[in-house]
Amino acid sequence: MRNLVLFGPPGAGKGTQSAFLVDHYNLVHLSTGDVFRFNIKGETQLGKLAQSYMDKGELVPDAVTISMLQQEVENRPDANGFIFDGFPRTTAQAQALDQFLEGRGDSIECMLSLEVEVEELKKRLLARAATSGRADDADIDVIQKRIDVYNSETAPVAHFYKTAGKFKSIDGHGSLGDITGRLVDAIG
Ligand code: AMP
Repeated sequence: MRNLVLFGPPGAGKGTQSAFLVDHYNLVHLSTGDVFRFNIKGETQLGKLAQSYMDKGELVPDAVTISMLQQEVENRPDANGFIFDGFPRTTAQAQALDQFLEGRGDSIECMLSLEVEVEELKKRLLARAATSGRADDADIDVIQKRIDVYNSETAPVAHFYKTAGKFKSIDGHGSLGDITGRLVDAIG
């Protein structure tokens, strides 16, 4: 199995690049943000809970997010591997993912970290709001909060994968094709 973590701040291009990588490597795209939004649309209990955090730009609690992610993986026994997009977002999530995969005789191959400077992130998110319909993309205060949460809670996850020798930094500026090329080179 080929399991990749696509990492980076909000607006780094994780979703956009995942769409290409899933086709290229025949993997399943698993975005925790997408699963939460699907549940919000369906007005499930999980959706209601997630929305209360997402509207403020805060993280959904680890226990809820981890068990949801595990369920999503278990729902795809046919998968060749996964691209995890937006997960793990805390060190506790990274540890839980490692343990969960190990229990299945599996592991993360590498973390690909898209690096984009902060002013560019804000520009991209505000532009995306026009088509995404996402309230958390349209409000500059919520965008700032998401970036702050990324810096304080999520950025340290990189250290977890660096220690394991699985971290790869990718320049996330430039054309979509250029960035895809860098990712493919890094995956090898
Ligand atoms: P995203 O679609 O990845 O930008 O995520 C949108 C929002 O969903 C985030 O701002 C969080 O509120 C929530 N979320 C997504 N993934 C996670 C996660 N792994 N842990 C906690 N909250 C998450």
